[in-house]
Amino acid sequence: MTVLPRPESRFPPSPVPDEQGVELKIQGVVQGVGFRPFVHRLASRFGYSGTVVNSAEGVVIRLAPPLAQLDSFLQCLQDEAPPLASITSLEQADIKVFPGEPGFVILASEHSGAASTMIPPDAAVCDDCLAELFSKNDRRYLYPFINCTNCGPRFTIVESIPYDRPNTSMKVFPMCPDCSREYHDPVNRRFHAQPNACWQCGPRLSWHDAAGRLLPCDDPLREAGRALARGRVVAMRGLGGFHLSVDAGNDAAVQKLRQRKRRPSKPLAVMVADVQAAMKICSISLPEKELLRSWQRPIVLLAKRDDSRLAPSVAPGILHLGLMLPYTPFHHLLFRVEETPPALVMTSGNRSDEPICTANDEAIDKLGGIADFFLLHNRDIVTRADDSVARVIDNKARPLRRSRGYVPGSVALHRDLPAVLACGAALKNTFCMTRGRTAYLSQHIGDLETAETLEFYEESVRHLQQVLEFEAQAVACDLHPDYLSTRFAESIGLPLYRVQHHHAHAGAVMAEHGLEEDTFAVILDGTGFGPDGTVWGGEILLAGLSSFERLASLEQLMLPGGDAAAREPWRMAMAALGAAYGGAGLTGCERLAPALAKIDSVKKEALAQMMSQKVNTPLTSSCGRLFDAMAGLLDLCLVSDYEGHAAMELESTAWQAVRDDWMNDGPNEQRFPVEIRTEQGRLLIGTGPLIRSVVDCLARSVHRAEIALAFHRWLVQSVTAVIKELAASLGKKKVVLGGGCMQNGLLLGGLSKDLQAAGFQVFSAEKVPANDGGLALGQAVIAGMNHLHD
Ligand SMILES: [Zn+2]
Ligand SMILES: [Zn+2]
Repeated sequence: MTVLPRPESRFPPSPVPDEQGVELKIQGVVQGVGFRPFVHRLASRFGYSGTVVNSAEGVVIRLAPPLAQLDSFLQCLQDEAPPLASITSLEQADIKVFPGEPGFVILASEHSGAASTMIPPDAAVCDDCLAELFSKNDRRYLYPFINCTNCGPRFTIVESIPYDRPNTSMKVFPMCPDCSREYHDPVNRRFHAQPNACWQCGPRLSWHDAAGRLLPCDDPLREAGRALARGRVVAMRGLGGFHLSVDAGNDAAVQKLRQRKRRPSKPLAVMVADVQAAMKICSISLPEKELLRSWQRPIVLLAKRDDSRLAPSVAPGILHLGLMLPYTPFHHLLFRVEETPPALVMTSGNRSDEPICTANDEAIDKLGGIADFFLLHNRDIVTRADDSVARVIDNKARPLRRSRGYVPGSVALHRDLPAVLACGAALKNTFCMTRGRTAYLSQHIGDLETAETLEFYEESVRHLQQVLEFEAQAVACDLHPDYLSTRFAESIGLPLYRVQHHHAHAGAVMAEHGLEEDTFAVILDGTGFGPDGTVWGGEILLAGLSSFERLASLEQLMLPGGDAAAREPWRMAMAALGAAYGGAGLTGCERLAPALAKIDSVKKEALAQMMSQKVNTPLTSSCGRLFDAMAGLLDLCLVSDYEGHAAMELESTAWQAVRDDWMNDGPNEQRFPVEIRTEQGRLLIGTGPLIRSVVDCLARSVHRAEIALAFHRWLVQSVTAVIKELAASLGKKKVVLGGGCMQNGLLLGGLSKDLQAAGFQVFSAEKVPANDGGLALGQAVIAGMNHLHD
């Protein structure tokens, strides 16, 4: 069957009475995902005549009478849609049609005006393609770039819209007659599969030395498997960027990679062939298994097994390991090579603090000193997308880094908003664009601190603006005046809304769940600029979508040395002792917390002086810094190697002490006193009694896993007590939980459980990260609401 050119007027306006047809307008991810062939199959099954066409307003289906069982057809349209399709709206209207020719026809696409349909995210290779990949008689047997409309690259190869092959990086690969036939056959699985390719016509892998010189060979994957088995570092060009890979079971190899990448201890992600292999390394629950196997194929944080046989240096000190399954055909082929080690480190191919490399020459230039070999291919990556990271907490999958597989998937809003560009914050940056009832969150950009990352950021804003045909009416940014994202927002010259960091965190969760009325928001986070000039981060707000009120917070601690305190948890440990014991806490710090003996005494004296004279010691209510203080006191992490390091160590340590029903106090469990007091009309969670209890435990040599767990429990109990007290006077029953600390499974799980037990309805981040990676969604919605009222 061929695609007909779109006739001028297939349905003349003069209707024949009693000939009632139906027109369906479908929006969402419905183009480039095999939707029209699906409609064709379905209509044929129901015996309907009519047409389907891609238009600027989405997919339009016109059905001619008679239409027996139309309800059932509509149901199947939604239930049986192809895996990558997602329908966000379906409008139905009666039309008067001429019977026309019988049968069902796919009309050629017509594109104009704003793109209200979306480019799909990249998807892991599907089972049908995998079956062909390993079938000796298939013409794509072992072809590393096999794909179809149900799988393969999408967002990362798109240059501009409409999403058609000439507008992707596949344009340099003219299809061979066989591929072209599939591409044009409406009932074929590869009908309009833009990246369609085969051995004859498509991209190829190649094998190169550390200087990028081509090493001729029959099978680049076999060479890669052998090099990995010999402990070599291989840089591999993937879907959204490069990976650096080594044998995850070879400690020397992993340490070599760490040294060369200057990444001393931040956990490295690992890829294994399948779920069975994953279960040998980690304990995996059913929802975790589903997440691991989902077509988005994120890195999933899973609890490591003691008998995992992984090199200790893969994730030192951390219980949770980032594990993923193969998602490109050549990952599957690599694991099929006999020599390939069963578990591979697959970490982002970048130099520290820079975006992941995407181009071959760029990678050879930047990774040449890190990798021993390069596994390259010649299909260009147009848009960078890191691996996504997700975790199951409280039986729900939650993205921690939302990128490949999820982007540019949108978040549905519960009301129409003006077109807002929200610029995000500084760390883990993403940005967001809203239009109508849809919010598009960008891929993970990274920490906006270097020129390279800023360039990636600006380029990504331009690219997404282009593929969405987006024109902003207003701009949102953080309240922090010095963030690069704030400066960028100011330079645009549109109405600008500065949104307080933790209000934005609350807004993101509210937007996800369609909450509009004022709601309690517990935002436990690292750092955010407060309107009072202090650093906020442990806040309980009464949050609405246009404004908020700060109802309660953690008691403030000093941040001795400002930003340096966030990198060196021992400073926060000193600050905590100073707060709990005054000057005696500083002079006697080693006696109170023996870990501090490891810190140079000159440094400690200098810090004590800073604190007693209050020089360069801004105040903070940050929950992240309280985690740092605990990790310092417990000797888990005195100096951070990466953002969130201390908090991850503390959570991992606490898990060691977790019992099945950890929230129920056993007779021997540590319990720290909760202190809630009122100061200047605001409730404060006092930290003095907590710190003195921890010091007391250290003196009694209580196991630090017990102390770490007791700290988590104390935080849950303190927050719950505050919410109960606030609810008694304000009568609210809904609580949103947000901020970077909500990536912590014990904290989020514990708060959800306790607050629900106290009769509250609890909402937390499920579609966008609870950390700053989801912040832009909140900024956009809050700015949009304010712009509506201006
Ligand atoms: Zn496929
Ligand atoms: Zn071909």
